[in-house]
Amino acid sequence: MNNIFYGKLIFELSREGRVGYQLPEPVADGKGISESLPAALVRDEAEPLCLPQADEQTVARHYTNMSNNNFGVDTGFYPFGSCTMKYNPKINEEVAALPAFATLHPAQPEATVQGALQLYWEEQRMLSEVAGLSEFTLNPYAGAHGELTGLMTIRAYHRSRGDEKRTKIIVPDSAHGTNPASAAVCGLQIVEVKSTERGTVDLEALKPLLGDDIAGMMMTNPNTLGIFETEIPEIARLVHECGGLMYYDGANLNPMLGVCRPGDMGFDVMHINLHKTFSTPHGGGGPGDGPVGVRKGLEQFLPDPHVVRREDGTFALECRDGSLGSVSTFLGNYGIIVRAYAYLLALGRDGLAQAGPLSVLNANYIKDQLKSHYLLPIDGLCKHEFVFDGLRPEYGGDHHDDSHVTTLDVAKRLLDLGFHAPTIYFPLLFHEALMIEPTETESKDTLDSFIAAMKQIAEEAKSDPQSVKAAPHHTPVRRLDDVKAVKDAIFTYQG
Ligand SMILES: *Cc1c(COP(=O)(O)O)cnc(C)c1O
Repeated sequence: MNNIFYGKLIFELSREGRVGYQLPEPVADGKGISESLPAALVRDEAEPLCLPQADEQTVARHYTNMSNNNFGVDTGFYPFGSCTMKYNPKINEEVAALPAFATLHPAQPEATVQGALQLYWEEQRMLSEVAGLSEFTLNPYAGAHGELTGLMTIRAYHRSRGDEKRTKIIVPDSAHGTNPASAAVCGLQIVEVKSTERGTVDLEALKPLLGDDIAGMMMTNPNTLGIFETEIPEIARLVHECGGLMYYDGANLNPMLGVCRPGDMGFDVMHINLHKTFSTPHGGGGPGDGPVGVRKGLEQFLPDPHVVRREDGTFALECRDGSLGSVSTFLGNYGIIVRAYAYLLALGRDGLAQAGPLSVLNANYIKDQLKSHYLLPIDGLCKHEFVFDGLRPEYGGDHHDDSHVTTLDVAKRLLDLGFHAPTIYFPLLFHEALMIEPTETESKDTLDSFIAAMKQIAEEAKSDPQSVKAAPHHTPVRRLDDVKAVKDAIFTYQG
């Protein structure tokens, strides 16, 4: 970015000569360098910096106003399906900000970081227990990165046995887009398996795909429709029988917490999203962490380095023979790991066991309250989330033309009523998908007010569809051209 861009465009609140700092006047001495100001702070006037010039108060108001124009978990309900936008206790932030964690240097001698290594070691033990697996690495940076690491682990396992021909991976058609993407990055060929009417993996469609070229199968459970995959034991038996390994996409582990464990269902490798299930604020591509767990016998393939506890009780970083190598710098996003640790300890075994059932209860409550107004293509018990296919026909939902209210219109109108929109037009299995995940942290009051807003919108869709189509009416900006907004962003304040 050039100076003109910074100085003139980004900050038109800039006024020549205004400053928000106080420095001692430079004193010219014989050598031309100030005595009262460190030399590093004295700039050569021949090279002026074109930075915005503003007083502290203008800057404070600018950023505060900008933050007020945003919607976040701390401003309102955020039922964004597949993303688990739950409330994250602020104590986790305070713990992660403790100087002992926040000022660690990755190259510090082992003896000076014993506590940090112990935290990592204990957390990987805790996650192993939650998942029913043998060992975890916390090194991958995100869910998709965890998938890649897990798939590399599966490849390392096959190669260690001289089994080079397993180059295919089975992925259900309902999978999150990152599954086929990670598999492709890992050099695997994707074989898609269909879903049944109920939205679960079709066992009969799976059988003909199995063979000695299959590295494994990726499954998401609950799947992207929020449905528990009931055929897992049989699927795991079949995949293992053909020599493949079972991969569990555990990005949305909330509803399983304390209820059941992937390791007990026959899965060999999995990832978890700390930034969804284990309480790290996320969204907008913020930092995350995607730990990968494996069953007994696969530990040696996990990435380097990993943390071990020595016999004398001290902790050390180690690399292993057979490891797939390093997937991140040092130990991943350590601040995220600290937040998850604080969350795990605060909830404990009993608290975690409540989180799962509560996330399921909340989702089913909303689903049952709203299915009179919105079309529910797959009925029955859901887990932490579910999908509507737009408004019911009585509310104009079956007309796919410009005069009727679509899922996009419902999402925009929700913003007027103080709620973030659910995930829309995903999964791709339906035309007007509206994917709602309330999470376990919301009160019944909040769920009830969301239900009331959704019903109000359905009524408006019938009585005054044009008004809904013109929504939002009360937000700082109205409907944006999403593509243009990305390609031709306007950075000026215009407040
Ligand atoms: C969020 C999600 C992912 C990807 O996680 P990222 O951290 O965004 O890379 C993968 N699978 C499922 C089912 C998810 O919901």
